Amino acid sequence: MPNILIESENILPDPSLSAYLRVGGYQAWTYARANMPARQAIVAIEKAGLTGKGGAGFPTHKKMRLMLAQPGEKKFLIVNGSEHEPGSLKDRFLLEHYPHKVLEGALLAAHAVEASDVVLAINEASIAAVSGFRRALIEAQDDPAVDFAGIAVTVQTVPDIYIVGEESALLEVLEGKKPLPRRKPPFPIERGLHELPTLIQNVETVVHLPFILTAGAQAYRALGVDGNGVTLCTLGAEFVRSGIFEIPLGTPISEILYDWGGGLRDGSQIKAIQPGGPSAGFLPPASFDLPLDAQTLAAHGSALGCAVIRAYSDKDCMVREIGEIMHFFAHGCCGQCPRCRMETNMFDTILRQTLSGKGSWKLLDQVDKLIELAKGAGICTLINMPVAPLKSGLAIFRDEFQAHIDHACPRCGVGSPSVEPARLSVA
Ligand code: SF4
Repeated sequence: MPNILIESENILPDPSLSAYLRVGGYQAWTYARANMPARQAIVAIEKAGLTGKGGAGFPTHKKMRLMLAQPGEKKFLIVNGSEHEPGSLKDRFLLEHYPHKVLEGALLAAHAVEASDVVLAINEASIAAVSGFRRALIEAQDDPAVDFAGIAVTVQTVPDIYIVGEESALLEVLEGKKPLPRRKPPFPIERGLHELPTLIQNVETVVHLPFILTAGAQAYRALGVDGNGVTLCTLGAEFVRSGIFEIPLGTPISEILYDWGGGLRDGSQIKAIQPGGPSAGFLPPASFDLPLDAQTLAAHGSALGCAVIRAYSDKDCMVREIGEIMHFFAHGCCGQCPRCRMETNMFDTILRQTLSGKGSWKLLDQVDKLIELAKGAGICTLINMPVAPLKSGLAIFRDEFQAHIDHACPRCGVGSPSVEPARLSVA
């Protein structure tokens, strides 16, 4: 089955407009504008079963339909390329190497919701992505082969801070303010950028549109094992073959880890994975026969998120790894909600205490109480993000927590009570 989002895992394409036009680029845009009114485009997207690829996995057509119903001439589509999830590389890869496909997808999404303005929000740390997309935009604007149909497309860079990935914090940043999530309602679709209706879609999400709107929903669904299409998936540096892969949804996890990724670089066994970034629950090897899709992963206490697969070997101390994740969320908390501040800081403290040899089950039992206190108390979903990795980690790696309580972790050194967690990259 040929790839539809990227040419192949091994070939970097020519990102120029002429190369894109040679392979049929912008034909979907020309076709949709002439033959597919907005409502019809959304029906095709609904039939394709496309869901957002930024992490939340919300059905794309639902957001689009709500947006189309918003009144007014001026409406924004923001294509979110802020990509702050640790390990995720797919959006910056698309922006750098497939900028015209991103632009065509953005124009199609704008057409489907009748948006007048498109803003590409790109992480300022991804210098090649920013310059690659800017170059492509100028190229397309200067070439009569690409008719923007009056849609204004601009690029704005955003800071490399985790909370900027949250939709309403992104809006604040684009308006020149601090990255603080907004209280909802109103939702961005009703009142977003500069108080106008705003739809926010991830970069990868719009890249699925040229295929869906030309080949059709059935052809798109048929690409997946379970009729749900494909997704881009990032395998970390710990794999023999790391990088970005276009994977049929429904592929067994073991196939992705061992056939696609080649297993772990150091030859050790995989003892657990997180299939969707740091907020996803851990899955042990008993789950590796499961198909990789959002519903199955959610049913097993994990998440597909933006499909960054992180694998842990038997050499990794999971208390240390979970400590790293808790620190990441404590650092990522914007501080607006007292209970989010308390919860994320307490989780970080509890893991630090455990790692420094002062842990106990009495201390770890505080986790459930803190989760209960934090329920429903946050302006955004970051307050929930540490829960799945911490709860699943405590359940799956109980013996490793016990080893730390006993000062006898074989991975950190027998009898070593003082180990600082390593750090996920935090801005
Ligand atoms: Fe900030 Fe946490 Fe409140 Fe979200 S839930 S707005 S990250 S304090």
